[in-house]
Amino acid sequence: MKQFEKHLEISKEGFAALERVIAFSCSRCGLCASMCPSGAIEMKDTIPTLVGKCNKCGFCYQACPRAFFPMTKAQQRWFGPETTEVDRRVGRCVERFTSRALNDEVFEKAATGGTATALTRHLLEKKLVDAVLQLEGIHQDQYFCHHARPVVTTTPEETQRCSRSKNQITPILHELKKVAGYEKFAVVGLSCHVEGLRKLQLIKDDPELREMFKGPAKIADKLLAGLKYVIAINCFSSTKSGGIDLMFKKLGIREEDVIKYAEDTKKSLYQVLNEGKNFLWFVQDNIITKDGKFYPFKYIDYLDEVITMGCMVCPSFIVCKQADVSIGVTASEIKLNEFGYNSVMVRNPELSAVFSAMVQEKALLKRHMWDNRGTLLRKFVERVLPSKDLMNFAEYVRTGLWKPHDDLYKRSESVQGGKILGLQRLLIAQTVKRKMMHEPAIHALQKEGKHFPEMI
Ligand SMILES: Cc1cc2nc3c(=O)[nH]c(=O)nc-3n(C[C@H](O)[C@H](O)[C@H](O)COP(=O)(O)OP(=O)(O)OC[C@H]3O[C@@H](n4cnc5c(N)ncnc54)[C@H](O)[C@@H]3O)c2cc1C
Ligand code: SF4
Ligand code: SF4
Repeated sequence: MKQFEKHLEISKEGFAALERVIAFSCSRCGLCASMCPSGAIEMKDTIPTLVGKCNKCGFCYQACPRAFFPMTKAQQRWFGPETTEVDRRVGRCVERFTSRALNDEVFEKAATGGTATALTRHLLEKKLVDAVLQLEGIHQDQYFCHHARPVVTTTPEETQRCSRSKNQITPILHELKKVAGYEKFAVVGLSCHVEGLRKLQLIKDDPELREMFKGPAKIADKLLAGLKYVIAINCFSSTKSGGIDLMFKKLGIREEDVIKYAEDTKKSLYQVLNEGKNFLWFVQDNIITKDGKFYPFKYIDYLDEVITMGCMVCPSFIVCKQADVSIGVTASEIKLNEFGYNSVMVRNPELSAVFSAMVQEKALLKRHMWDNRGTLLRKFVERVLPSKDLMNFAEYVRTGLWKPHDDLYKRSESVQGGKILGLQRLLIAQTVKRKMMHEPAIHALQKEGKHFPEMI
């Protein structure tokens, strides 16, 4: 408990303590704004901002998942002990599978397979929940929209408005009050949103944390009484608010013209070797517009515009281990030339039964997930992959400017996958995130004496 006491002490500085988190570690989840009893924190352009008087209660810092996170307690509380390597990497699961929605409207409008929307539709249709807090795209008339806002959806039709990925980071948890009145509700969010929710749930339910962090515990009693399911959307990293707008401006693209974003590939040597098929997502980032024009781009050319440090220090490596279910795309590959399935990791047996009912009702097509395609190659690559600061976090933390090492450009060309499919593909992507981003970013913050999220 000593480590928690240390943070209780720090929190007495009030918002000043939170400001040190906001500087480099904030995920923009929005939870601090829901914690302030004076309503003095607002998410301005996604950044927690003090707009009133801070009474130094420290609730914002105490609840913030990036101030410190009770990882050991979280692991004990949700879904049981992690005994195998796969458990440790993706969390203990009741089942893992790949799937796609069978309803045409859901599938066509979805980010990939539409499993997330099919699930929230089903939960609302069957009255398993009364409401879902999630993000909808602001520009509904566009095929692609990265401007999102949190909404509380209560009907299957409303939940449809939330489909597709919104690539700019968007807070959700500052709107918890809007959903708190419902008897049974679900929240859909990225791992960072889920971490905020789970930390608050622990403060509410764990006797030691409740005793220590009394203020947030009382607020949590009201906010989380009806929380039934936590649905995570997998995430490698997100982009700054307004970052994609700036990138589009530089590329001369209008968002309303975009029909595909970072989901398609240009032919690479790897594809040619694999029968030349246009196969995989996220291998090379392209934007395609209505007139059929291709705009190849690399995030590394737009680091100042898009990169957010909160994503670099994110302790969830793509999969959120604390969610009742996490839904993604990486690990859904059975063949290299297909697109449109989700990788699904179910941890709550109740949701496993829900997915079975969806299959019976022909709302969902469920398939096997490859567990072991390329295991040896994956293990070899993981071993030789260096933990290196190619992004040059050290420079960024010192100066606020991105000056990546030249090597990053060379390496980004060679991140072309391999015969590593399904779960193994996800595991290797996790290692890339850990070794190339998370570890060097945390190291740079430690070296400069800056705050970094402490896992307790
Ligand atoms: C920034 C970002 C990065 C991602 N990176 C990866 C990755 O590296 N590997 C991987 O496997 N999957 C990743 N995903 C998830 C993947 O792109 C799909 O969103 C996921 O597989 C769900 O697909 P679906 O067809 O079931 O979604 P849909 O049925 O279209 O539903 C999408 C759901 O996601 C929610 N959502 C969309 N954008 C956001 C957002 N920014 N924040 C919170 N909730 C949101 C919506 O509210 C909706 O409920 C990422 C998603 C995002 C937003
Ligand atoms: S991580 Fe969440 S709770 Fe912490 S400062 Fe950022 S928005 Fe607030
Ligand atoms: S990388 Fe982590 S912090 Fe960034 S958006 Fe994804 S889940 Fe959130």
